[in-house]
Amino acid sequence: MQTQSFDLIVIGGGPAGICGANTAGIFGKRVALVEKLHDVGGAGINTGTIPSKTLRETALALSGVRSRKLFGVDLSLRREATIRDFMRHKDNVAVHERRRREEQMRSFNVETFHGAASFVDPNTVRVAPDTLLCGERILIATGSSPVRPAEFPFEHPRVHDSDEILEIGALPKTLAVVGAGVVGAEYAGTFNALGVEVHLIDGRDSLLSFLDGEISENIERAMTAAGVHFVWKEKVTRCEAPPTGDVTLTLTSGATLAVSDVLVAAGRQSNTADLNLAAVGLTPGKRGLIKVDALCRSEVPHIFAAGDVVGPPALAATGMEQARMAICVAFGFDYKDVVAPILPTGIYTIPEASMAGETEESLREKNIAYVVGRARYMDNPRGQIIGDETGLLKLIFGRDDMRLLGVHVVGEQATELVHIGLVAMMSNSGADLFNRTCFNYPTLGDLYKYASYDAILKQKGLIADDSK
Ligand SMILES: Cc1cc2nc3c(=O)[nH]c(=O)nc-3n(C[C@H](O)[C@H](O)[C@H](O)COP(=O)(O)OP(=O)(O)OC[C@H]3O[C@@H](n4cnc5c(N)ncnc54)[C@H](O)[C@@H]3O)c2cc1C
Repeated sequence: MQTQSFDLIVIGGGPAGICGANTAGIFGKRVALVEKLHDVGGAGINTGTIPSKTLRETALALSGVRSRKLFGVDLSLRREATIRDFMRHKDNVAVHERRRREEQMRSFNVETFHGAASFVDPNTVRVAPDTLLCGERILIATGSSPVRPAEFPFEHPRVHDSDEILEIGALPKTLAVVGAGVVGAEYAGTFNALGVEVHLIDGRDSLLSFLDGEISENIERAMTAAGVHFVWKEKVTRCEAPPTGDVTLTLTSGATLAVSDVLVAAGRQSNTADLNLAAVGLTPGKRGLIKVDALCRSEVPHIFAAGDVVGPPALAATGMEQARMAICVAFGFDYKDVVAPILPTGIYTIPEASMAGETEESLREKNIAYVVGRARYMDNPRGQIIGDETGLLKLIFGRDDMRLLGVHVVGEQATELVHIGLVAMMSNSGADLFNRTCFNYPTLGDLYKYASYDAILKQKGLIADDSK
């Protein structure tokens, strides 16, 4: 068997792998990217980020959820919408994004190999069935897969994990979503918008507890008002799924719940089992994680890892940044030597939410004095125009210097709007910047000015301060 030599071998063709490969390709390195499936794209393009966001957008459009908020306007198409309508746009967007990425890789001369990769020795990778690649540097970006708890019969056509839910042939009548993490909460919102009765079950007692408490309460309130049934402090102990009829879930309290379909969103595990890591002297950690340092370097100096395979935050956004940085470090490119110190989080529930930096809870824990400024979408003309009744921009400033420490948004365009605050934080700015900046009118961006005014007035003692 002849071995082909490369400067870099990337294992895994998801967002992290593609960005790592392209970064090396742009700087003229000879790169091989190995993807075990027929298509590159990974969870980012094929089974996670892009399809779930497209389905959410389609659900909002088909169900008329947005237009219902506009007085006297009902553009609802729900009666005519079929599951095929629902899925078509998702498929088109995923194909387009995949082609765009493939074209990029071609333009940077990245050679793609299809087949499962495993290590033969620290510099040699076998691509099944019989190709050998030798690499001076290696980037592992094999991503993650849904965890499948043993109590659920996934062979049943109406018991799904978060990959399979993208392939359903009929809309569920009723859906139990097991696990109220980001993936579970997002899909609960999407299916609820389509008129499916949704029960969201979790052993915890609140939604997305890593968010600022006020924002997480706002999302839960809005989802409850939209019809999602939250089932807190309950775990599923049994799942009975007969060939026809309802699937019955038994919960820890002894209560039962009968639904047509179940979506299990019980977390993810790293895809490392097939890599033969023993051949390079690496031992995967809990849930298959590869341990890396801040530069994404593993315990073997020429082997780097990025994306979901190294664990939280496990987002496409962060995985791509990790990979770009890892490749710069690996080859000494003078372009990016650190992953951004403040990482945004986007949550595509209905309503959408996003955050960057500190929460009120984290600042209290650190004993840092702060002041909060709020601006509500309903007090903003653009918010009125789009009919977003619950949207909120919340800014948290250091009490002494009014530097922005945290930005939190819930409502339409939250994941876009957060970037204004994020960039301000990256440049160490605060209330004074928003005070001096002129924003377009009418825009949601203008909320930054009013949230800052709110905080400035509180800090100066001119209005009541509810910051703790
Ligand atoms: C429903 C859902 C919604 C999400 N929404 C968002 C979001 O809105 N924003 C966001 O930033 N992130 C989101 N994520 C997370 C995001 O999808 C992942 O963080 C991202 O895809 C991880 O990228 P990756 O390149 O590390 O791994 P992956 O995208 O998982 O890609 C890994 C690739 O490696 C391949 N591979 C595995 N083993 C081997 C092997 N042995 N040999 C060769 N190839 C192999 C796999 O086939 C796969 O193509 C979402 C995830 C899910 C499930």
